[in-house]
Amino acid sequence: SPLALEGRISCRDLGFSYDGVHPVLEGVSFAVRPGQMLALVGHTGSGKSTIISLLMGFYPLAQGQLCFDGHPIAQLGLASVRRQIGLVQQDPFIFAGSLADNLRLGRSGIDDARLWQVLEEVQLAAFVRALPAGLESALDEGGRNLSAGQRQLLSFARALACDPKILILDEATASVDSQTEAALTAALACARRGRATIAVAHRLSTIVDADEILLLSRGRVQERGRHEAL
Ligand code: ATP
Ligand code: MG
Repeated sequence: SPLALEGRISCRDLGFSYDGVHPVLEGVSFAVRPGQMLALVGHTGSGKSTIISLLMGFYPLAQGQLCFDGHPIAQLGLASVRRQIGLVQQDPFIFAGSLADNLRLGRSGIDDARLWQVLEEVQLAAFVRALPAGLESALDEGGRNLSAGQRQLLSFARALACDPKILILDEATASVDSQTEAALTAALACARRGRATIAVAHRLSTIVDADEILLLSRGRVQERGRHEAL
């Protein structure tokens, strides 16, 4: 398709305010190419999730430029860009329905074989195979019958199902057991290959593995570089 993105992201002098008065982001710039991972770190309220919201086109920019493959989001079309971003949510939306429906989210062209593939990638396949109804197992609203780690892995599998060129991850802050921690690290190591990845990072392994880290403070980039340099 002519709209298929390579996945280059560039963001220049980004500025934003929710109320038009108090600035939440000022002068934020970064670029990510396929195969690279950018980590966003900083205290609560520093603007990390706001950057993700702007990348997803949830709000119009107040200032600056945000481009995918060199084109402003408005030129490419919001729906088209969003379809090509795999978003792993901090608190994933899980509805009462089958596991398969929760993974597909109404998108066409994702067959069972693809679902098993992404479940393998996030190390949930063994867990799902052991369920009596497999992919058709019922999930509770909010995923209450899953652990916090399993919910994030499910969100991961959901994001990967459409084989997006861009991966955006808002890491869960909830503490998980060491096995889930290892699964999350392995899933990210695998999923980021060939993709442009932007991660709001809480886990040290994500920060260490990032090609660039932006340390945000009150909506500004306070420091940037690789882990060993910061
Ligand atoms: P955390 O680590 O707690 O998730 P964050 O770095 O993701 O924090 P943001 O959620 O981007 O921070 O918030 C940045 C600032 O914008 C904060 O001052 C916050 O109160 C404000 N803010 C966030 N979302 C909204 C919103 N929907 N409406 C108004 N203000 C908001
Ligand atoms: Mg946040």
